Amino acid sequence: MPEGHTIHRAARDQNALLAGSMVRASSPQGRFSGGAEVLDGLALSGIDAYGKHLLYRFDDDVVLHVHLGLFGRFFMHKGDLPDPRGAIRLRLTGHGGSVDLRGPTACEILDEGAEDALLARIGPDPLRRDADPDAAWARIGRSRRSIGALLMDQSVIAGIGNVYRAEVLHVNGIHPERAGSSLTPDEFEALWTTASRMLRDGVKSGRIVTVTAEDAGKPRSRLRRGERTYVYRQSACRSCGGPVANWDMAGRRAWACPACQS
Ligand SMILES: [Zn+2]
Repeated sequence: MPEGHTIHRAARDQNALLAGSMVRASSPQGRFSGGAEVLDGLALSGIDAYGKHLLYRFDDDVVLHVHLGLFGRFFMHKGDLPDPRGAIRLRLTGHGGSVDLRGPTACEILDEGAEDALLARIGPDPLRRDADPDAAWARIGRSRRSIGALLMDQSVIAGIGNVYRAEVLHVNGIHPERAGSSLTPDEFEALWTTASRMLRDGVKSGRIVTVTAEDAGKPRSRLRRGERTYVYRQSACRSCGGPVANWDMAGRRAWACPACQS
């Protein structure tokens, strides 16, 4: 499942191709033909990302909601547009190119009530300027659930997936099994700040690199695949060199260094 930085990057890149002009819409696969017909010929004012959700805002207050889920993917085309092949749910073509959407969990047109309901169940997103971290703290600070589970709950805080969960907790010395209610306001603020920084960095670079150049001892651009995280998929902690523990946590693998995190 893509984490929030991938979705915000998709919004940014697709805004450059599509926003600000009339778009053509079609559903080569046929499963979204009715929706594509509604969108075809409307001007797209912009694309907004909220956690792992995308909202495409068209004229006449028409809103398209897309969630990639586990298997969904975007393919962008500039210049010559290839003939549609396979299961393309939606193809959007604008002034700068085209976007093909395959295999999403959600691709639907929302009425106003449905948009409000959707946004109400998405927690604050550290990548959004208008996010309200206090809304996440209000949930986390009084929860007996583990902070590792809370960070993955998209209704509590939006956009963090398995890699960022492991890394955000690690650099703040917080063990994933600690209850949300055991965190101090300062610890939560540090988690939020770290999540914003790491996610923003991911939007810029298009990949997850959480290790600093200082800790890595070389420029971050030169880090190979297995060198980019402190504890996620590591056997030895890249902060202290000790063994990294991994275990199942609410269906996803958690990673932490017992020496650095408590
Ligand atoms: Zn360690």
